[in-house]
Amino acid sequence: MSDRSDFTSEKYPELDSGPRILLGPGPSMVHPRVLRAMAAPLVGHLDPYFLKIMDRTQDLLRHVFQTKNQLTIPISGTGSAAMEAAVANFIEPGDSVLVCINGYFGHRLTDMAQRYGGEVVTINRSWGEVFTPEEVKEALVAHKAKVVAIVHAETSTGAKQPLGEIAEVVHDQGGILIVDAVTSLGGVPVRVDEIGIDVCYSGTQKCLSVPPGLGPITVSPRAEEILSKRKTTVPNWYLDLSMVQKYWGTERTYHHTAPISSNYALYEGLRLIAQEGLENRWERHRRNAQLLWEGLEELGLSLHVPKEFRLEPLTTVRVPDGVDDIKISMQLLKDFNIEIAGGLGELKGKVWRIGLMGYSSRAENVLLLLTALERVLGKQ
Ligand SMILES: *Cc1c(COP(=O)(O)O)cnc(C)c1O
Repeated sequence: MSDRSDFTSEKYPELDSGPRILLGPGPSMVHPRVLRAMAAPLVGHLDPYFLKIMDRTQDLLRHVFQTKNQLTIPISGTGSAAMEAAVANFIEPGDSVLVCINGYFGHRLTDMAQRYGGEVVTINRSWGEVFTPEEVKEALVAHKAKVVAIVHAETSTGAKQPLGEIAEVVHDQGGILIVDAVTSLGGVPVRVDEIGIDVCYSGTQKCLSVPPGLGPITVSPRAEEILSKRKTTVPNWYLDLSMVQKYWGTERTYHHTAPISSNYALYEGLRLIAQEGLENRWERHRRNAQLLWEGLEELGLSLHVPKEFRLEPLTTVRVPDGVDDIKISMQLLKDFNIEIAGGLGELKGKVWRIGLMGYSSRAENVLLLLTALERVLGKQ
């Protein structure tokens, strides 16, 4: 048996990470108002006050998603939980599914779709490229699919997938479109209704700039109908949207205890977005990305994705020959408290990933990073 005196605060000190400038692929930095909201006293998950906050959060989420969809809720869990909710609810065993893979998260979607019994066909592009509507159409003509899944903002590659005509192609072929907007929502336009996305999900920790923990999802009336006509029950109890909706909708039936503080944080984060204005926020992300791109090129570095398809919240920059990518990012962390990330999968060792998401997307962060990078690269 160990004694109380074994657990000294020398051995187990108080949390103290020091300040960090988070310019990686997530989590992004959090506005002080959001941190304060998380420290607010708890109320019960069926307290009339909390029910009001839930309604307001849903209104604000609809605004950010640019949708009128009734079924719009934050899933309890990170972006991957929202991804799994999309897959678990809309893919039944034996359903044909098309997944467009041009990065890490396309692979994750494929893995999940297969686990839920989907008959998955994929189309593939190298990491950093995007799909054309014609490619999606060709694939659907060759292999009819009930569900098509695509990533809007590939955080592993820094490419932004144009969605415009893809929803139309999918609908013409009788399918529904699932879009991963984890790194785009709140940073670049995600116009769910205008584009015609059927199921769109995100996460709080990227451009919404709220700590990881919730995964907003929105479902079109067409997709809701598919949900109501499922032949089998959703095999994932926790993420069954019709059950979760009974708590978030008018019935207010207990399903699981809502993470109160995380929901407070999301509410405050969404209020900040509404106050800034969506258009202004997109413009801020664009402006700061532009500043970063120009600065990186001035340092003699080259960007991995052609400008046309570059994702403002996440930039991939090539590691110059002979430079140790990990050593540079560790040095940035040690000397400047700046976090950036290395490449994943096909891009491992080849790029750094620099995030300018939400509250992290500020000119002072860009200028500090550029200066720090110049110094650290100079030393190598
Ligand atoms: C981060 C991310 C996810 C997963 O979100 P988590 O919060 O890490 O679970 C899914 N898709 C994309 C495109 C992401 O960037």
